[in-house]
Amino acid sequence: MPSLETLPDARGHFGPYGGMFVPETLMSALEDLTAEYERARHDPAFQQELAALLRDFAGRPTPLYFADRLTTHLGGAKIYLKREDLLHTGAHKINNALGQILLARRMGKKRIIAETGAGQHGVATATVAARFGCECIIYMGAVDMERQSLNVTRMRFLGARVVPVTAGQATLKEAINEAMRDWVTNVRTTHYILGSALGSHPYPMMVRDFHRVIGLEARRQILEREERLPNLLIACVGGGSNAIGFFHPFLEDETVRMIGVEAGGEGIRSGKHAARFQGGKLGVLQGTKTFILTNADGQIELTHSISAGLDYAAVGPEHSYLRDSGRIEYDYATDDEALAAFRTLAEVEGIIPALETAHAIAHVIKTAPTRSADEIIIVNCSGRGDKDVSQAAAHFGI
Ligand SMILES: *Cc1c(COP(=O)(O)O)cnc(C)c1O
Repeated sequence: MPSLETLPDARGHFGPYGGMFVPETLMSALEDLTAEYERARHDPAFQQELAALLRDFAGRPTPLYFADRLTTHLGGAKIYLKREDLLHTGAHKINNALGQILLARRMGKKRIIAETGAGQHGVATATVAARFGCECIIYMGAVDMERQSLNVTRMRFLGARVVPVTAGQATLKEAINEAMRDWVTNVRTTHYILGSALGSHPYPMMVRDFHRVIGLEARRQILEREERLPNLLIACVGGGSNAIGFFHPFLEDETVRMIGVEAGGEGIRSGKHAARFQGGKLGVLQGTKTFILTNADGQIELTHSISAGLDYAAVGPEHSYLRDSGRIEYDYATDDEALAAFRTLAEVEGIIPALETAHAIAHVIKTAPTRSADEIIIVNCSGRGDKDVSQAAAHFGI
């Protein structure tokens, strides 16, 4: 068996998952992107410029924070938070956006497009486009624009045009369709900054690589602090970019367990959720073969989550592979559990997490009390919750 860290193969396959399922008009753009990424990856000048931007513009390294009071409150394992919420723009998304804008510049593409769900990827993309003087168009579902209006305003101040997408469920999937349509039309001048470890090769690999900095830092930080590896890593999984970036550098450490937490919505049996590993099937969506929520006719199922960033019918192909192999386990947290966790972290630690992140916190709330005090858990705190306070306030009647 190949080492887990060496995947995917040259055509983007993670075992039976991944690949390049795109219209013919995009194939040459994706091949160019793959080749350019390969050159950039081995170019010290590219790596140095990216490292400097991550440090001085985005704020890396992010702290590994010992959540002292949460640990005491839950009464079990020691809990650390990897503070991606402290990055510029408020979530991990900027790691990938910076990497991709440098690639766009190398390819001479000055027009940038992106899709966004919760708006965090749109904000990160609009930010790097402003920083590099590029035109920027963000496609966003009309429903998401309503529930994440703060981020819509931020993107507009950053000079981006935010295009509402009203088709279908008017959320992330439709926004990706529109972005792909734009890309097919304008592929010569345009780079598509895809926002998660999803879509056609090379995106799942490339986006993962740009986020590996999360896990590399966390690994070094915990070894410095505790002089040993953690027992458990926990991260929320939408498309799966924050989780794979955090987990990947630990894949060969056999003693480290990893749990990805999907959106359980109103519960699995209600059918209103976005937990692809709870009843999802193998299928192809938006460029990649992976686990997908479909109905009995094989049509893409409507999804539901309180958090726009986890509300998507497919999961990144590498997660499907790592789940089959048993290396990563997947669980889910419901809307109610995530909302309760959102409150707990705010009240106990003084940190308001994004609702996406709150799904990972919900899992730690369940599991930490069952573990002994000499176990160490690291939770990836993927983003901050400013964007979610009005939605949570409406829920709690605050
Ligand atoms: C976008 C987002 C997510 C979900 O995306 P992944 O690709 O699964 O990481 C999770 N947390 C935050 C804060 C986000 O903005």
